[in-house]
Amino acid sequence: MRLLNEFRFIRPETTAQAVTALAGSTDTRVLCGGTDLLPNLRRGLVSPGALVDVSRLESLQQISWEDDRLTLGAAITLEELANEPRLNRHFPALVKAILSVAGPSHRAAASLGGNLCQDTRCIFYNQSDWWRRSNDYCLKFRGKLCHVMPKGDRCYATYHGDIAPVLMALGAQIDIIGPGGSRRLPLDGLYQENGSHHLSLEPGELVSTIILPRDVQWHSGYEKVRVRDAIDFPLAGVAAALRREGDTLAQLRLVVTGTNSIPIRVDLSQLEGGPWSDEAAEEMAKAIRKAVNVLKTTVTGPKYRRRVVMAMAKRLVSQLWQQAA
Ligand code: FAD
Ligand code: SF4
Repeated sequence: MRLLNEFRFIRPETTAQAVTALAGSTDTRVLCGGTDLLPNLRRGLVSPGALVDVSRLESLQQISWEDDRLTLGAAITLEELANEPRLNRHFPALVKAILSVAGPSHRAAASLGGNLCQDTRCIFYNQSDWWRRSNDYCLKFRGKLCHVMPKGDRCYATYHGDIAPVLMALGAQIDIIGPGGSRRLPLDGLYQENGSHHLSLEPGELVSTIILPRDVQWHSGYEKVRVRDAIDFPLAGVAAALRREGDTLAQLRLVVTGTNSIPIRVDLSQLEGGPWSDEAAEEMAKAIRKAVNVLKTTVTGPKYRRRVVMAMAKRLVSQLWQQAA
């Protein structure tokens, strides 16, 4: 069986050309670094009619520092970002997350936009074709049943991106361009809880820029656990950002990855206005347990991932609280 279908390769010179090429047909896909898309293509998980390579578009390569914000082009590579000294100074949690993505050779090609838009993952899906065929495939692609939730009516594959949770905790927005023009929305709005359609992009749309507010009052961090520390997706990851005013936790944002089909924001507004304490940490853990939906989508069982998320979150927020003193 031939898995790699024939496809056209388009390298536009402007974003307008890219949008036209993407809008031309529903089976056209954006390609940037290819570190997520190409392995999936080789495994027969996607079979696009055309790939539109946006990696060399100048407008998607810009980095612009303004007083109140930082704007990053979606095609900038993770390696370039990690080597940007000002980024490390102003957004160390973001650089930490970037440096925890895959390995150095991946980061040399992998883009920021590709990282945000990467596919969801599942042990029943990220397999060879013969493996999936012998299991009658699954709901996400070619099959009729979800092996993780046999009675479910949607795919529960998990989002494992490292960077989106940090950007969400920092209040990032994104610009999306498409046939209808350009629109700006909070990064949260890019995602929807469905493992087979986890992005809210319309046909022909692509992420062009990421906008980060430069607010010095926030203290932020990122922690992840993985099977192999040198190169691996997060089994679970936690990003947090907080503002402390004296002995009061003025604001706390927490976003978890590796548990749901989207990076999931945990509502902790009930803790704001009080002190950070053991009781507050327990309350946060309860809120996390309620928000996450950890299922058997990775090699490591749900119980471990649920517990480790709560433990990482407690440790991270306690560290940030101390730092902010
Ligand atoms: P591509 O492969 O080019 O694209 C990924 C997806 O996003 C495709 O569906 C593509 O159509 C879409 N896309 C790309 N750019 C845009 C855009 N501008 N607008 C709209 N859609 C777009 N990721 C992690 O987060 N953490 C890890 O630890 C990690 N480990 C990995 C380990 C290995 C061995 C491998 C192979 C991959 C790993 N990845 C990991 C996944 C991947 O390498 C990264 O997410 C990378 O940043 C993807 O960027 P890319 O430019 O290569 O994306
Ligand atoms: Fe397939 Fe279910 Fe896994 Fe989705 S969650 S990839 S439908 S087995």
